[in-house]
Amino acid sequence: MAGVILKIMTNIALIGCTGSIGRQAADVVRRYPDRFRFTALACGKRAGELIALCREFRPLLAYCEAPFDPPAGVKAVKDKTELFAGCDVALIAAGGFTGLAYTLAAIEAGKKIALANKESLVCGGELVMRAAKEKGVEIVPVDSEHSAIFQCLSYRCDAAFEKLVLTASGGPFLHKSKEELAHVTVRDALHHPTWKMGPKITVDSATLLNKGFEVIEAKWLYGAPLEKIGTVVHPESIVHSLVYFSDGAALAQLGYPDMRVPIQLALTYPERLPCAPMLDLTQIGTLSFLPFPEDKFPCFTLAIDAARAGGTMPAVLNAAGEIAVQAFLAGCITFSAIADTIQDALGAFARENAESYDQLAETDARARAHAKAFIYGSSAS
Ligand code: MG
Repeated sequence: MAGVILKIMTNIALIGCTGSIGRQAADVVRRYPDRFRFTALACGKRAGELIALCREFRPLLAYCEAPFDPPAGVKAVKDKTELFAGCDVALIAAGGFTGLAYTLAAIEAGKKIALANKESLVCGGELVMRAAKEKGVEIVPVDSEHSAIFQCLSYRCDAAFEKLVLTASGGPFLHKSKEELAHVTVRDALHHPTWKMGPKITVDSATLLNKGFEVIEAKWLYGAPLEKIGTVVHPESIVHSLVYFSDGAALAQLGYPDMRVPIQLALTYPERLPCAPMLDLTQIGTLSFLPFPEDKFPCFTLAIDAARAGGTMPAVLNAAGEIAVQAFLAGCITFSAIADTIQDALGAFARENAESYDQLAETDARARAHAKAFIYGSSAS
């Protein structure tokens, strides 16, 4: 092709602007005001923070689930599907099942997706990938592991590989025995050794449910059967994941743990812009790798079981997991009871083919009610 197309400005609709990923995305945009612009900002409940971000970034559109008064020049939209007008990329960083509705709406609007919301693929992988294919929409991963794989595959989700290996820090409880795990506290669980993230994903990293979610995401993003997705514990979180090829070669992506790198790359690839400090290997000294401790962390196994069953079962897994983590954070159940809650829900629901968003939303609601009844007694719903 003759000539070079210079991308002057990337217009971004940021969904979930007040969460951990959203704030780091704001950092990226702040650093490169000539390259990135927010056309829309959306969040759940933190209206005050949204208003401050609207004042700073002057988007055209804003949306909040709570009532809010946008600053002059910013239009508050009532319907989230309107948020994607005028953007080039929809950065979906909302947490939880709600993220799926945004992802599907952005695909419907024909926008490129930078995907940081796990539930979109965990619960709705089949629908999301089908809709993206129909609309010719590209889905670029933001999660550090999937971004690493994307980089190792030369930015091609359909590239050939032999095996994907997701690295896991192992979370704060890697070296605890099964007996000790029964007595860990919320404070312990919220103390992640390498990554600073929101409370839900931090607890999911402690149970290793998060790694199970990431296996499911990898399955959809890279069209990989579960047998071709492995996991390895890497406590330093420097190698962000690996890809093995048929000739025995393996490629890995390395860097300090800093989510701004995969966020920025999802917006600029194949171009790279300065973002994080260069890795100093002599300062790191040693990188260690350990077998994945599946037997101590039943949430991971439950996630793989749900992935294997497919259909609506991953949505049941996710819903029960969200309720269980909320209950754990509120001090209502023990750490081990998170897995018990998920196991009970998976056992109680029959698999259905995943056909529509409404069906998944209904499954999500029923699984939440079921998990609440399991935790708080049958009077709760
Ligand atoms: Mg991750």
